[in-house]
Amino acid sequence: MNTRKLEINVVWLKRDLRLEDNEAIFNALVSGKRTLLLYVFEPFLLQDDHYSERHWNFIKESLVDLNERLKFYNSKILIVEANVISAFNQLLSNYTIKNIYSHQETGILVTYERDKSFIRFCKNNIITWHESINNGVQRGLKNRALWIEKCNAFFESKPLAFAPREGQLLTIKEIEAFELFIKTPSLKTPENTSLQKGGRSMGLKYLDSFLENRYLNYMFHISKPELARTGCSRISPYLAWGNLSVREVYHKAYHLKKTIKNKKSLEAFMSRLRWQSHFIQKFEMEHIMEEESINKGFHKLKKKVSENYQTAWKNGQTGFPLIDACMRCLNETGYLNFRMRALVVSFFTHNLWQPWQDASKHLSKMFLDFEPGIHFPQLQMQAGETGVNILRIYNPIKNSLEHDPDATFIKKWVPELKNLEIPFSHEPYLMTKLEQEFHEFKLGEDYPFPIVDLDSTRKKASDTLWQMRNKKLAKEESLRILKKHTSRNKTLLENS
Ligand SMILES: Cc1cc2nc3c(=O)[nH]c(=O)nc-3n(C[C@H](O)[C@H](O)[C@H](O)COP(=O)(O)OP(=O)(O)OC[C@H]3O[C@@H](n4cnc5c(N)ncnc54)[C@H](O)[C@@H]3O)c2cc1C
Repeated sequence: MNTRKLEINVVWLKRDLRLEDNEAIFNALVSGKRTLLLYVFEPFLLQDDHYSERHWNFIKESLVDLNERLKFYNSKILIVEANVISAFNQLLSNYTIKNIYSHQETGILVTYERDKSFIRFCKNNIITWHESINNGVQRGLKNRALWIEKCNAFFESKPLAFAPREGQLLTIKEIEAFELFIKTPSLKTPENTSLQKGGRSMGLKYLDSFLENRYLNYMFHISKPELARTGCSRISPYLAWGNLSVREVYHKAYHLKKTIKNKKSLEAFMSRLRWQSHFIQKFEMEHIMEEESINKGFHKLKKKVSENYQTAWKNGQTGFPLIDACMRCLNETGYLNFRMRALVVSFFTHNLWQPWQDASKHLSKMFLDFEPGIHFPQLQMQAGETGVNILRIYNPIKNSLEHDPDATFIKKWVPELKNLEIPFSHEPYLMTKLEQEFHEFKLGEDYPFPIVDLDSTRKKASDTLWQMRNKKLAKEESLRILKKHTSRNKTLLENS
């Protein structure tokens, strides 16, 4: 009897949940061997504090969507709940595996440690782990000298097709036979939530409708909490989990740009796609940012933690309507536009004077598009602790009046304020006792008094941060950061 095990390639899917323009899958198929696509729900990540159920559901929806497509190829993804090394050990008892393919992950410290163990595992088992670059992010760079060129080359190269030979992917039957011996998680997810649903099909719907007409309002609506929800692309979770590749999105926008007259909005969108790579590259080169400020000059900054302030902020009970509307909306829908994200972080770190590290996990859990490479650098920028970016302390009232003038967003998310006249919806604390009576509304009972004074807290934050920023270490660090993370050649791809 022939007991030789079948040799297969395995593609270990991570944050690249797509078949098209997936370099890991492409390379595995090009080699000609039979190929298994694998996704592993790893217990240490399922329990990690940066993530929450909404992320795992998004992934499950993405896998279900992929499996629908794979039916055409009589295949499916092997989905396992296990430590990744145990999953591969189990596969090794049935198959010979000499090559594993995946994308490089610019993840958090625990995934970095996991990857190091996985490299050791591969060495011990004489397996080659091929890792493709992701989002144009280069591993092992010491500075940005050649980054732009390399990143441009990535963006300009053609997206890769998905074209397995007939029978090249392991069949549904083969995979189901293996599933009998492993723990497979349920892929059921809650219906009727206000969160964006995962999957490439949904990602393409968002992208196509944006490129069809929604992009026309992009620049006018990008800062508005309500209008941005349709005026922006909303593709961020699909990029973060890899349902769409940033390169394919860029190419679609690039081709559209050639055919339209008003190019400004599309150009603004395309440059943000490049920012995505820029930020992830920064985090790739400074992964210490997960825990500490990139600028060592700010490591001595100690802020007194207030559980009350933090709880009020998380639950949208600060007494500042726009902040509260944003936090409640985020908790329910998993999305806020850029300016509102910056605003809530600015309020937490400057007005409430709380450490950015304490905002980090709540936000990463709530944002459906949690992308470590954008999350940590942005948090530190908004907290004013990089030393190289403009110190911006957003005023919640000014932003409220400017970006939600008729209080539509506020009234939607803070219904306690919906019967007030518009000026009071922005600043309910301006109401006199008599006005409160007229509106059958009682400050302190129906809605909280503001938990801090905006002017004095703003001044304290600004004075302290400027003082720190002007110290020797912070200045030296600023120079180091600029030298390491800026490129002499600042031109972005084709000036697009
Ligand atoms: C504190 C804070 C945390 C953030 N955390 C994340 C995060 O975890 N994941 C995430 O994708 N974005 C994050 N952002 C950036 C930005 O707010 C979101 O990318 C954007 O709001 C997503 O909406 P959209 O897809 O409609 O974006 P669009 O405006 O349509 O932009 C298209 C894409 O460009 C990229 N992009 C847009 N703005 C930025 C930016 N400022 N920096 C880097 N890339 C950008 C995103 O991939 C986005 O999907 C954060 C911003 C702040 C201030």
